[in-house]
Amino acid sequence: LKNGEREAFTAAIDQGTTSSRFLIFDGSGTPRAGHQVEFEQLYPHSGWVEHDPYEILNSVNECIENATKMFFDQGYGVGDIKALGITNQRETTVVWDTETGKPLYNAIVWPDTRTSKLVHELRRKGGSEKLQQLCGLPLSTYPSSVKLMWMLRHVPAVQSALKKDRLSFGTVDTWLLYNLTGGVKNGLHVTDPTNASRTMFCNINTLEYDDFLIDWFGVRGVKLPKIVPSSDPDAYGSISDGALAGTKIAGCLGDQSAALVGQCAFTPGMAKNTYGTGCFLLYNTGYEPVLSENGLLTTVAYAFKGFKPVYALEGSIAVAGSAVKFLRDNLGLIKESGEIGELAAKVPDTGGVVFVTAFSGLFAPYWIDDAQGTIFGITQYTTKEHIARATIEATCYQTKAILTAMEKDSGTALHALAVDGGMSNSDVCMQLQADIMGIDVDRPKMRETTALGAAIAAGFAVNMWKGFDELKSVNRDDRKTFSPKTDEGTREKWFNLWGKAVERSRGWVD
Ligand code: ADP
Repeated sequence: LKNGEREAFTAAIDQGTTSSRFLIFDGSGTPRAGHQVEFEQLYPHSGWVEHDPYEILNSVNECIENATKMFFDQGYGVGDIKALGITNQRETTVVWDTETGKPLYNAIVWPDTRTSKLVHELRRKGGSEKLQQLCGLPLSTYPSSVKLMWMLRHVPAVQSALKKDRLSFGTVDTWLLYNLTGGVKNGLHVTDPTNASRTMFCNINTLEYDDFLIDWFGVRGVKLPKIVPSSDPDAYGSISDGALAGTKIAGCLGDQSAALVGQCAFTPGMAKNTYGTGCFLLYNTGYEPVLSENGLLTTVAYAFKGFKPVYALEGSIAVAGSAVKFLRDNLGLIKESGEIGELAAKVPDTGGVVFVTAFSGLFAPYWIDDAQGTIFGITQYTTKEHIARATIEATCYQTKAILTAMEKDSGTALHALAVDGGMSNSDVCMQLQADIMGIDVDRPKMRETTALGAAIAAGFAVNMWKGFDELKSVNRDDRKTFSPKTDEGTREKWFNLWGKAVERSRGWVD
């Protein structure tokens, strides 16, 4: 009870690239119960990344069961959770048989580069120059469209399902929503505009599927999810089974949009950077989609029912925390991700080492499909501390390159960058980021902003907050600022060296 009234809660499923989480938040944005489960990354060939769709679903259910138990143990009941939101890794592509509800292939995960030859082929086809204007994204290995095309070309079960008119497509939000609302019995086949805007099938202006795009990618006949608002009390049904059976689902946002909402960056000109598996900078551009001329993407920030859709410019970096994992799992330089900061802090600089962590080519603002992970400047003097530092710096330099592109596109310079995500836990990483960018880094104490954003979308739909102004005080306490300790000349020198390394990482192998 709070002020004599029963407290209202809102919850979120956060289905990320490396782990799933379920968190239950109170009205001030404080998590009161939660659970997290890591799941397996499948790397069947170099450049391929897959997830088992059932493992994704099971990990989510396990999180819901455990977090809910923790919540109930505090004396609360199902009815106290007014609504639930979903946020998810974006672009990752799932297909299933409409009649049986069973997946027809593993999910192809967003950083997977098996489509690079297909992308080269498509670039030569007429019409590719129109794509970005229509859907906000340039042609690359990253969006769902080419992943689905690859499945249609290479997976017989997918081809046969299409012939029988039984091929259902979804991003991870859609796969989860379908299963959580009853699956093959009467599960809903829906998505929200933020997720739809990552497929390349959705028109960025109308937020509806575009006939030109559907035909251009050759996916006519595939059953695409219905696009409904990101925050809506009626569009998402309710949980059909388990500890939360009957709970209304009322929000859905792709993970990067959710982080923007969770940082309460509702005003045009506000931006956030999330350092998870990859790293994604979103800059709120208001009601108009701004087309980038400098290698950024145009995406839907959020589209709440009853409000005009809000757009963002996005800079996507494919590899950030996953490079930290690489040092841990492949090279054994650290035992825990959290150790990278300490290791890097043992040296004052990288000793001339530059690590272009292009494991999935380079995304924004470069878009070099054939860039390969490359370490430059190694000498007899180089130690693991230098490599650790250069690994962190790679993400920081790409962030700086994105900020520069954003300034050119928007005409305004950012003065501070709100951050969150796994790598933002490290003070060393965030100080390096400030030193490399030359602006303040602003980090909240509660860093589950992605989950919070989805919980806000859901809570908003059921009137837990009356308007966006009420939300501005959510998660504002105890923020920490990292200010740059470098001068302009040093920053420029470092950044030029990085730029040189990027150019040399091109086309190493065919
Ligand atoms: P996702 O949602 O993409 O799964 P998270 O936001 O959970 O990602 O972040 C996980 C990533 O952050 C991992 O790749 C991990 O290596 C990295 N990470 C976690 N903690 C730290 C830390 N203290 N310092 C540096 N990197 C970290």
